[in-house]
Amino acid sequence: MLDIVRIPVLNDNYVWLMRESASGVVGVVDPAVAAPVLDEAARRGWKITHILNTHHHGDHVGGNREIKAATGCTIVGPKPDRARIPGIDVEVDDGDRYRFGAAEADVFFVPGHTSGHIAFSFADDRALFCGDTLFALGCGRLFEGTPAQMWHSLKRLRALADDTRVYCAHEYTQSNARFAVTVDPANRALAARAAAIDTARAAGQATVPSTLGEEKATNPFLRADDLGVQAAVGMAGGDPVAVFAEVRGRKDTFR
Ligand code: ZN
Ligand code: FE
Repeated sequence: MLDIVRIPVLNDNYVWLMRESASGVVGVVDPAVAAPVLDEAARRGWKITHILNTHHHGDHVGGNREIKAATGCTIVGPKPDRARIPGIDVEVDDGDRYRFGAAEADVFFVPGHTSGHIAFSFADDRALFCGDTLFALGCGRLFEGTPAQMWHSLKRLRALADDTRVYCAHEYTQSNARFAVTVDPANRALAARAAAIDTARAAGQATVPSTLGEEKATNPFLRADDLGVQAAVGMAGGDPVAVFAEVRGRKDTFR
């Protein structure tokens, strides 16, 4: 069983620290920086044994070398991106099952935000570490991939169980919600969620993790094949890839 702790760092990044209770192994997902992660682990008496990286961006791997130097941990990252992951020890790729103590992660290759992006799905724990692929009410920008790739990646994540918790890497939810209601205006679940997010943020609370069930019902980037979203962007009956590209394009210029 995984005990998962959220560590807010930089402006809006979340680093996830987790301990597998049966074995005592401790992993860090996407350490943007080292010091707050080492401090939190020390405070809990947890010895970091692993870093899991989803992609190569600096706000996800920036703490790799310092944490490895301090702990001797093993760095696990995407094989397609091995040249861009500092200190990588273990390369994993689509379809791999990575054993983490008594837990096990399925590795999904989910290109789109970057060309080598992966996600770790701990199905027994209903925990999905998806980096910058899927956000609460959003998805990552397409820096190195096409809309078709990203839509395919998101559809694979969407196929996981509704009670999966989505441990994404940024607190972008409130601004994502402001956009989402413009492309899914008739979605009542979305309107209710947007209001709840405003309340949570006003109280200084985090909105991550969400559940995949919530995302399926309200995240427009998982709903390019939904008639409501399609109609709202003037593409009723359209190809989901084209609808996804339209929604993503609108978000890129949304203010
Ligand atoms: Zn990124
Ligand atoms: Fe990021």
